[in-house]
Amino acid sequence: MTLALANLIDGRLQPPRDGAYLEVFEPATATVFARCPDSGAADVEAAVAAAAHAAPGWAATPASERARLLDRLADLIESDLESFALLESRDSGKPVALARSLDIPRAVANLRFFAAAITQWASEAHPMDGRALNVTLHQPLGVVACISPWNLPLYLLTWKIAPALAAGNTVVAKPSEVTPCTAARLAAAAITAGFPPGVLNIVHGHGAGVGQALVEHARVKAISFTGSTRTGARIAAAAAPHFKKLSLELGGKNPAIVFDDAELSDADLDTIVRSGFANQGEICLCGSRLLVQRSIYDAFKARYLERVQRLRVGDPQEAGSDLGALVSKAHFDKVISCIERARGEGGKLLCGGGPVAVEGRCAHGWFVAPTVIEGLSNCALTNQEEIFGPVVSLIPFTDESEAIALANASGYGLAASLWTRDLKRAHRLAAALEFGIVWINCWLLRDLRTPFGGVKHSGVGREGGLDALRFFTDAKNLCFDLS
Ligand code: NDP
Repeated sequence: MTLALANLIDGRLQPPRDGAYLEVFEPATATVFARCPDSGAADVEAAVAAAAHAAPGWAATPASERARLLDRLADLIESDLESFALLESRDSGKPVALARSLDIPRAVANLRFFAAAITQWASEAHPMDGRALNVTLHQPLGVVACISPWNLPLYLLTWKIAPALAAGNTVVAKPSEVTPCTAARLAAAAITAGFPPGVLNIVHGHGAGVGQALVEHARVKAISFTGSTRTGARIAAAAAPHFKKLSLELGGKNPAIVFDDAELSDADLDTIVRSGFANQGEICLCGSRLLVQRSIYDAFKARYLERVQRLRVGDPQEAGSDLGALVSKAHFDKVISCIERARGEGGKLLCGGGPVAVEGRCAHGWFVAPTVIEGLSNCALTNQEEIFGPVVSLIPFTDESEAIALANASGYGLAASLWTRDLKRAHRLAAALEFGIVWINCWLLRDLRTPFGGVKHSGVGREGGLDALRFFTDAKNLCFDLS
């Protein structure tokens, strides 16, 4: 049976006003399994109007009550974790085991984290030696837009709506129409949790329609966006003349840098493999450029390839599948064409290199083999453009300065991971690397209190912890004359 999804507007699940729907595919089977509203400007208008109407009441709601509702929403998702995980897996193609262990628990954690954070957030005071006292208020902005991508659907949606709502804003969210299902289930849970009408609105549809209308809407005060650099640039151009606050989390071409003193254990190797291929390589933080010191290049390559070749691509619902299907036919075609381009650029394919045929119900799914390439310079398009699939390129380097130069020779600057046992070297490199996040002897280890975001074409602004609460509020300084 095909699932019929609805928008959440003004506290009610509603069909799109003009009755148009989009087909939602299950990537593992290449069949339609849901229909999602193909909303238009009238739906956006209704959602923004509802959010604007609800804004003063929500801003005046005590932080403890906002936190209680966020916690209640977290509880509802957690109590239904298995069905959320199955739905996320069906919608995105990722292994259900990953959705169960990463995506859905993290969505729960996002809601709980910001529920707790808002009850602990304090304002600053700046006394002026008895002459005056400054007190800073952090006031909610009003209506904000949260636009999220398809790779970590519920994880990234909640990463935005949780701080926005906690800080006292009302939200109009637009999930990716490629993976709208868990957002639609979240909408139903938000009604059950008891959020007042209009506080959280979710409008499904195309970026060019719903997304653009939201970004341009005069009553939307801030836009929190995660997605591609190209779309981020379009949003920045549309928002700039209206001086809206913008947080842009964009693409990456992240290096993992392995030094000859890394003393890699099997568990470290597993992490390095995961950093390339987790979620089919469809994580903005995946390390797609694997820089390896020449002195250990051959030995490392043998150990690494042996592990990559053991990865199992298969039905996302089977426990043994390490990689599932890519999210859409269009993305599958793009990744395959990037592999062809790597061949054309002179790259040597060490493993993978094309589609994987999976038997049974997944015979028509969009599966790609974990692919490792070597022999391409860092300037090759393969090493410069984001592929966002299970493709890793091995690049040798001689010494520390060459490693830094290669890592930084990229238009992107999201995340780097560094493997060395030399603490001084780790400090030197971390300081020199032009990235928003540097992991040392680890990857994807996240503390939600820490700033998250990139430099260069990987975005502007920081999410996470107090940075997110600051983004979703305006600071107002009060100065009391004490003389
Ligand atoms: P897109 O930029 O294509 O889309 C992201 C979201 O923006 C979708 O909801 C999309 O809708 C919407 N959108 C598209 N056009 C507009 C517009 N003109 N105005 C407003 N909204 C619009 O990214 P993908 O969904 O393809 O996601 C993959 C990208 O996301 C990769 O580049 C990846 O690196 C990046 N990413 C970055 C992360 C980070 O934290 N830095 C984390 C995760 C992913 P629609 O689906 O209809 O196009």
